[in-house]
Amino acid sequence: MKYSAFSIFREGLSGNRGWKPAWREPDPKAHYDVIIVGGGGHGLATAYYLAKNHGITNVAVLEKGYLGSGNVGRNTTIVRANYLLEGNEPFYAHSLRLWEGLEQELNFNAMMSQRGVINLYHSDGQRDAFARRGNAMRLAGEDAELLDREQVRALVPFLDFDNARFPVQGGLMQRRGGTARHDGVAWGYARGADSRGVDLIQNCEVTGIRREGGRVTGVETTRGFIGCNRLGLAAAGNSGQVAEMAGMRLPIESQVLQAFVSEGLKPFIDQVVTFGAALFYLSQSDKGGLVFGGSLDMYNSYAQRGNLATVESVMEAACAMVPSISRVKVLRAWGGVMDMSMDGSPIIDRTPLDNLYLNCGWCYGGFKATPASGWCFAHLLATGESHELACALRLDRFTRGYQIDETGHGAQANLH
Ligand SMILES: Cc1cc2nc3c(=O)[nH]c(=O)nc-3n(C[C@H](O)[C@H](O)[C@H](O)COP(=O)(O)OP(=O)(O)OC[C@H]3O[C@@H](n4cnc5c(N)ncnc54)[C@H](O)[C@@H]3O)c2cc1C
Repeated sequence: MKYSAFSIFREGLSGNRGWKPAWREPDPKAHYDVIIVGGGGHGLATAYYLAKNHGITNVAVLEKGYLGSGNVGRNTTIVRANYLLEGNEPFYAHSLRLWEGLEQELNFNAMMSQRGVINLYHSDGQRDAFARRGNAMRLAGEDAELLDREQVRALVPFLDFDNARFPVQGGLMQRRGGTARHDGVAWGYARGADSRGVDLIQNCEVTGIRREGGRVTGVETTRGFIGCNRLGLAAAGNSGQVAEMAGMRLPIESQVLQAFVSEGLKPFIDQVVTFGAALFYLSQSDKGGLVFGGSLDMYNSYAQRGNLATVESVMEAACAMVPSISRVKVLRAWGGVMDMSMDGSPIIDRTPLDNLYLNCGWCYGGFKATPASGWCFAHLLATGESHELACALRLDRFTRGYQIDETGHGAQANLH
């Protein structure tokens, strides 16, 4: 069923009785060419591109909860391609280009809004680092502008420019960055994959990975054994647990990240703004709520909720950046489980098992990567070879010493 203004009009006149479910609820088959574990953004995008780019449609996505119940429906929706290092920037640049045509391609309103992302800087050293990052982005074909203080003030006048501790000196802006409705992205990819014949199996937890010799033969699930020729893991925060079922220990720690939404306010912030003095970022949703978050809770956990100490530090950062919101009421907060890699960059690769493939390590930045991750993981599953954009995102970089240490924090998951 094609979604359009006309179909809304037609259904409006006929009592909205003609809408079809956006995807089927199939029972699992005994065997698939490809099984993907995890019905988050990355698993669904992978299934979609497997079908669309490679014509592989005998595919199942197995999701232990409901589609979009993981981080894809929990993130703060920021989409950008402002990376510095060679292994990352072309990958995220490709992702942003895919985002730009995604809604038309999927025939689904994911509320993609290229409202601009501004990273504030507060010192000369930070300005120089941002200038370097902006230059790297432009070399990769992305847009980047280094704004001075008055240019930032013209865009976001309510910031605390004269804060004695963290005076705003300027910002690095990527105008093509912005936000997209997170669960809409999952639903759009799900509908697109389903319409091409992919089976999306909800409430189906993978509990074991069956192996014979050096190959995977299928997965044990809460709905019985399902065989496959190839298995792709896209379980985000649960990657370590799922890989362990295949006898693998990943360079991943699972940690909690929280997000917050305030009561609805009149529109007053048009861009996504990130604070340079602490890990804090802020945007305003179309409903008017301020959407914001900060750093990790800094302990390993599989709980999708966080603790109060982080709530306090996020609120402190909010008030330091925008004092005028200090009396705004926070309505909701939630947490998601981050698959923190040791260098802060993702992993899309083969594994020591012949037909087992891995997609993980997205830390708190995997939403923006959803299209490119699906694109490259589908390529890997279909061809057995890394896509050229994901060549640096190999698992063995940790043993070869070729980490992609984007933030310069070294090999400590909790610092990325
Ligand atoms: C609070 C918060 C804010 C964030 N903000 C941003 C942001 O602004 N921008 C950005 O780019 N990124 C952001 N992220 C990160 C981003 O959301 C994640 O990196 C990304 O969504 C991870 O990929 P995914 O969508 O496939 O994960 P998920 O949606 O978590 O998908 C993994 C799925 O695997 C399923 N699963 C796990 N184990 C099993 C099993 N055994 N069997 C079957 N299924 C299983 C899970 O139920 C889950 O649905 C944020 C994350 C959080 C939590």
